[in-house]
Amino acid sequence: MIDVNDALKLVIEHTPTLQTETLPLMETLHSVLAETIVARDDSPLFDSSQMDGYGVKVNDVRVASDKTPVALDIAGVVRAGQVYGKPVERGTAVKIFTGAMIPEGVEAVVIKENSQEIDGKVLVRSSAKPGENIRRRGAEFRKGDEALPPGLLITPPVIGFLAGLGYAEVCVYCKPKVAVIVTGDELIDPQDPLEYGKIRDANTFTIQAALQEIGIKAFSSERVPDDPQKLLESVDRLLPSVDVLIVSGGVSVGDFDFVKEIFENAGVEKVFWRVAVKPGKPTFFGTKGEKLIYGLPGNPASVLVTFYLFVRPALLRMMGRKETQPTCLSAVIESGVHKEDMRTEYLRGKLQIHNGEVSVDFHGGQHSHMLGSFANADCLVIFPKEQTHIPRGRKVRAQLLPWFAL
Ligand code: AMP
Ligand code: MG
Repeated sequence: MIDVNDALKLVIEHTPTLQTETLPLMETLHSVLAETIVARDDSPLFDSSQMDGYGVKVNDVRVASDKTPVALDIAGVVRAGQVYGKPVERGTAVKIFTGAMIPEGVEAVVIKENSQEIDGKVLVRSSAKPGENIRRRGAEFRKGDEALPPGLLITPPVIGFLAGLGYAEVCVYCKPKVAVIVTGDELIDPQDPLEYGKIRDANTFTIQAALQEIGIKAFSSERVPDDPQKLLESVDRLLPSVDVLIVSGGVSVGDFDFVKEIFENAGVEKVFWRVAVKPGKPTFFGTKGEKLIYGLPGNPASVLVTFYLFVRPALLRMMGRKETQPTCLSAVIESGVHKEDMRTEYLRGKLQIHNGEVSVDFHGGQHSHMLGSFANADCLVIFPKEQTHIPRGRKVRAQLLPWFAL
């Protein structure tokens, strides 16, 4: 049995970063930028008003105050999107709105709140410093500057920023093509009538949802009975078209666990089988060329724990992410835990943050067939392999689940 960290290291060592592609902006959320973004223009594009108010010359309002307001003729109005087109003369002001281009001759903007309009004139009640309330052209970037580095994760502000810089499409790392095969004679769909001895398939849904969480739509998902011929047919058919194949169930030592044997027949090279982890001991990982092949356990909690431990980091790496490991934090455990064997255990926990103090507790059974505790969890508490007991009140490490921040 291989240690969890050694297994993860092997996974990462075997994981390539994929090619890049150029996509329309709105298809790039959660992808990783694969090019340097250069400012195509100055940003801001031109001097503009930061406020609604009056564009003035500093000298004209030098003595203006609440007690000694200065009256200026309003020479015109300039709105956002318009060009004023003539210079503003001494002794006059121009009415201006947020985002409007500063006319020639305007040195500052006095905000509306400090002025009062009467009969085509404005009474200015405050002085102004040169450049006050003016956003300067190029203050953030100059044309040709590097605006964003490659490797950056594309988030909503990145998308908005790119749009502002005039990028309607952008070069990103490709997302892996992932196929899912769920095995088990006993599995039925959630809407199927229950039959004695059958159970409802959960893994088809959890795996696809966990993929969707990182922006991957499964290339295909199919359920295959515990029949070596049918399984081999599926694996052989899917492997040429995908980057990653995830099979769940049938990877343990039972008489009907055919997955390892089928992988071998399909030319998959084993990297490891069986990890010192609970849940998830029978996890298989192999490769065929640059393709990654996983045999995850069938138990619903095991499949998800091992997905987060060994699959998600690889998928993120393929997509060009530099940081592939989840955030861990230290938390006080609210109830003591025990274990017998020397495997690293991942307990589904719920974090509480109270006055900056982080604690963690468990809601529901921790057995590998129980998903309820997982559904109520937002972290995996790491119970180190060499420890057998953690008393209440002790600090533990908790690995955040992706929805923690939601
Ligand atoms: P296996 O690894 O195939 O022996 O499966 C281990 C346990 O997980 C068995 O109790 C299976 O019935 C159960 N199981 C396997 N696949 C699924 C699935 N897709 N959804 C829910 N339970 C499953
Ligand atoms: Mg099975």
